[in-house]
Amino acid sequence: MTTTELAAAREGMRGLKGKNVLVTGGTSGIGQAIAVRFAEHGANVAINYLRDPSEAAETEGQVHACVAKVRQEGVRDVVVGADVSKEDEVERMVAQAIEELGGVDVLVNNAGIQVSCPSHELSSEDFDKVLAVNLRGSFLCAREAIRHFLAEEKPGSIVNISSVHQLIPKPSYLGYSVSKGGMMNLTRTLALEYAGQGIRVNGVGPGATVTPINRAWIDDPVKREQVTSHIPIPRAGDSDEMAGVVAFLASDDAAYITGQTIFVDGGLTLFADFREPWSSE
Ligand code: NAP
Repeated sequence: MTTTELAAAREGMRGLKGKNVLVTGGTSGIGQAIAVRFAEHGANVAINYLRDPSEAAETEGQVHACVAKVRQEGVRDVVVGADVSKEDEVERMVAQAIEELGGVDVLVNNAGIQVSCPSHELSSEDFDKVLAVNLRGSFLCAREAIRHFLAEEKPGSIVNISSVHQLIPKPSYLGYSVSKGGMMNLTRTLALEYAGQGIRVNGVGPGATVTPINRAWIDDPVKREQVTSHIPIPRAGDSDEMAGVVAFLASDDAAYITGQTIFVDGGLTLFADFREPWSSE
């Protein structure tokens, strides 16, 4: 590395140092990696968690682990509890992050859930629950962040964590597919609506990533092999590989990018079944 490159590396990604970032679902998996990555770039982070840490030993451990990693970077941090599907809790969470960090510049809508069930057996409650967290929750958080950006007359950035299932249908995960499909137009519509006010809205679409949401296959070598056999870069991704792209989209290096979803998926959205030309002689 040249001295200029070294100096740039120490500075971190352009425009992130000193910024305040709110990450929903920030204590686990991809969200935790995102919170830590922003801290590494010198940004202060508000880490949202769902369950009351004092009531859930697992969550308490995750919150502490995330906060400890963030504090290693010497930035400021705030831990904010809220169920993102609940309007009053989102309003309180964003207000708390603004008050305790002194404003918010970047929102990462990462919290997400999925329910597996054949669609003809899916209850309306389970369908609504997934939409409420993944899509309504992202809307509510985005609305509160945008209100703040507009009130302060300052630029802002929102990154929505979508999925390859924004594009690829996922049978037996109807609510999830619909929520991530909807996220594309959440991203694009907000991007168009607020581009003139300096607010950028983008998405990151992870492919199969090693996180707790995938405990069904990550620790089973046979199932894991089955998953990776469908991926052109033949392995699962890790949370850190998602975090880098989220940080890029929020940084000044992406100042001219809005309304886009970048798929970080090892080529999963390239229709891997066409690796061999089976449809013509
Ligand atoms: P994860 O480890 O299960 O993390 C999900 C996070 O969302 C957890 O921190 C969870 O909190 C939080 N959460 C759930 N419901 C919430 C609510 N109502 N309010 C606030 N927070 C809530 O899974 P992940 O893989 O990191 O998923 C993160 C995002 O990536 C999701 O949007 C997911 O759809 C997307 N994604 C993941 C993959 C993948 O292969 N892993 C692929 C494509 C897209 P608790 O831990 O307290 O429940």
